[in-house]
Formats: sequence, structure tokens, C-alpha cells
Amino acid sequence: MAYDPAQLPGLEARLDAELRRADPEAILARAVEVFPQGLALVSSFGAESAVLLHMAAQVRPDLPILFLDTGMLFAQTLDYRRALTARLGLTDVRDLRPAFADLATADPRSDLWRTSTDACCEVRKVLPLERGLEGFGAWITGRKRFHGGDRLSLPVVESAEGRIKFNPLANWDKSDLDAYMERHALPPHPLVEHGYPSLGCWPCTQPVEAGQDVRAGRWAGSEKTECGIHVARTPGAVNDLGGDI
Ligand code: SF4
Repeated sequence: MAYDPAQLPGLEARLDAELRRADPEAILARAVEVFPQGLALVSSFGAESAVLLHMAAQVRPDLPILFLDTGMLFAQTLDYRRALTARLGLTDVRDLRPAFADLATADPRSDLWRTSTDACCEVRKVLPLERGLEGFGAWITGRKRFHGGDRLSLPVVESAEGRIKFNPLANWDKSDLDAYMERHALPPHPLVEHGYPSLGCWPCTQPVEAGQDVRAGRWAGSEKTECGIHVARTPGAVNDLGGDI
């Protein structure tokens, strides 16, 4: 059954009830079935991204993949984005970059992260994604419950800003991801072996010690734990919570 916008109220609850115990591959297949058009996958090409990207490539290699190139990413992430795209045969990876006008106004010296990480994420992540999602009725994220925090109660299907969001890996833990990577001989992000289990922008990402939470190196030393792209927008407000992509 394809998506009918008139069905949106309640559609996410019906899909969540149907898919909450389904395998990630089945969730992806259902997402593509319900949204044959207007579906995108948002990926950071980070430490665990290869799993979901590989699954998507099996279902629909031409699925639009939205990649937030904040201008502050590690060079290794940009290299990994290129290599993994080629390796998986993904044909529609789109780089979402901050608008020049926004940077000129809000972050002309590229140092906004020093004084306001929320404002920096707004310009470099939230607004570019908002623009990138225009025309899409649904998107797929790579968030998982085992990352903790607000993600502990993550549903498999939810809605926000008039769009359906699928979280196919919500139920998976680290061992599931590792087993999938090994089974399909997927290349790890080059910084994982240097102690980065979660990767974002270089100014805001540190390696973690053994035994620390996966996301302990993100905005370490501050109360910020998320970038803001998964929070309902309040006009005029800067989001201070959010999620991985
Ligand atoms: S993670 Fe850091 S550098 Fe990246 S957009 Fe957010 S505040 Fe800016």
C-alpha cells in the first residue's frame, strides 16, 4: 500500500504496531513499499552507518541518501563517504551543506562552536536538513535504543514535522551491528580503531575510554548530547535536543 497524505494522522502508530518487532530489513522494505516516492535515508557515514546503508543498497540502491556535510567533519569521514558509496553501489548520495548566507551571518569565522554549539548545529545541521528534506514525506534514521539517553524509548516508526520517520535499527544492539558488519565484510570507519565509537564534527568529538558510553565523546564536558535534528521545531527557538542520523 503506497502512502496517502490523508492517512498521516495515525499512520505512524499503525506502522509502528506492525513493525515494532520486525527485522531491520523488513522495516526498510515496508518503508519503500509505503513510500515508493518521497523517501530518503539520512546518514552521517559514521561509525555504524555502513550497516543501514548496506541494507538500503540491497532494497533500493537508488534511494536518496542525505549526508550532512557540516564543513566541520573529519577528513576521514569524507573519504569514507566516497569509498562506502562506491563500494555499496549507492547512486543518489546528496551532500547537504550549510547555506553561505547563514554562515556569513551566524558563523563568519567558523568558530561558532566555541561559543554556542546549539546555534552552530542549527546553522550547520538543522537548517540544511530541513531544506534537504523538502519534498520528502518520510525518512529513515540510524538511531538505536542502546545509545541511551532520549533514545531509550525510541519507537520503530514515529512522526515529526508532518513526516514519517523509520528507525529500522532501534531494536539492535552493538553485537547485532558487529555481527552484520562481519557477515557482510563491511569496511569500518577508519577512526573507529582509534577510539571513536561515535563520530560527528571534529571540534565536538573525542575518543572514548574502554567501558564508556558510545556517545560519551560527543560534546564531551558539556550537557549537550544531541544535535537537534530530531526535535519538533518551535518557531524562533534553537533546538537543544535531537538525535543521530
Ligand atoms: S557538532 Fe559541533 S561543529 Fe558540528 S555543527 Fe554541531 S556545534 Fe558545530
